Amino acid sequence: MFSDETAPLNRYIVLPKVDLHRHLEGSLRLATMLDIARQHGVTVPVSMLNLSGLVQVQDQDPLTFSNFLEKFKTLRLFYKSPDVIHRVTAEAVEDAAKDNVRYLELRFTPVALSRAEGFPLHDVVDWVIASAREAAKKHKIKVGLIASVNRHESPELAEQVAWLAAGHVKNGLVGLDLAGNEAEFKSEPFYGLFKEARQAGLRITIHAGEWGPAQNVREAIESLGAERIGHGVRVMEDESVVSLARERGVAFEVCVTSNFQSGVVKTFESHPLPRMLESGLKATINTDDPSVSRITLAHEYQHVCERLNVPMDALKRSILLAAESAFLDEPAKQELRTALKAELKL
Ligand SMILES: [Zn+2]
Repeated sequence: MFSDETAPLNRYIVLPKVDLHRHLEGSLRLATMLDIARQHGVTVPVSMLNLSGLVQVQDQDPLTFSNFLEKFKTLRLFYKSPDVIHRVTAEAVEDAAKDNVRYLELRFTPVALSRAEGFPLHDVVDWVIASAREAAKKHKIKVGLIASVNRHESPELAEQVAWLAAGHVKNGLVGLDLAGNEAEFKSEPFYGLFKEARQAGLRITIHAGEWGPAQNVREAIESLGAERIGHGVRVMEDESVVSLARERGVAFEVCVTSNFQSGVVKTFESHPLPRMLESGLKATINTDDPSVSRITLAHEYQHVCERLNVPMDALKRSILLAAESAFLDEPAKQELRTALKAELKL
């Protein structure tokens, strides 16, 4: 007889979506990786099943930060040619569009993409911009790009990326992100750089309060000029930082499955997203690394509603919040907001 196991997910697939926190390097399709491995002789298992274990979190994997990050070690081997970078960027945009994401902020780490084959940073940035723009047009989705730099790499390298990014604000590279290991590496060496980046017109988002304490969220806001915080779930450990974020209108790019898989929260059901929403924080729902986590944004919306018991109304409002927190100029933001509001019947 007729049965449609995907029906419950359909409710969420049809929703118009906004994703503010998605890494290009965590969005590679498995089939594409196999293609690249075959074409370029990347030494990884050439079967879907075995490769999956290296680059995607498995049910039996330990739910730890190191296991999660381990996947990126293999992922870094794939950026073999300009065509590969073009293809993975275009596919990341296409996959978001298929999931009914209307506005995607895709972040990428120029240093990671350039390193495998020694491509110049400026070329890598140009390739991603051109491919994202072309794919956005083709798949009728709006895309903004964010350049990520890592705490555990040198500030001098980050400065090169920031200046390249600043030169491309008009081409859709709208933001700068500080990522990497916040538990072991301080962000102080990056204070000056982020201040200058902001003055140069880049919007600022900082990974903080994921692996580090609430104090890192305060530091991101006060010393790095963050308008948005990547993850930031540990903000809930300090009421004074919650107040600061609320007063400044800082948005949180929450990624629940990622937090669960990397051990930030012990159980899925204990994720603080519902409390963040109740506290009046601008909490938005995002994917982080859809391929590594084997999810789509529709899955995340479903999990948030069905496992964290966030009502559909609150989910819809968080989609609008994400639109309001987008790194778009005012007119573009209003246009997105108005379209979403009508479609979400809010
Ligand atoms: Zn992230």
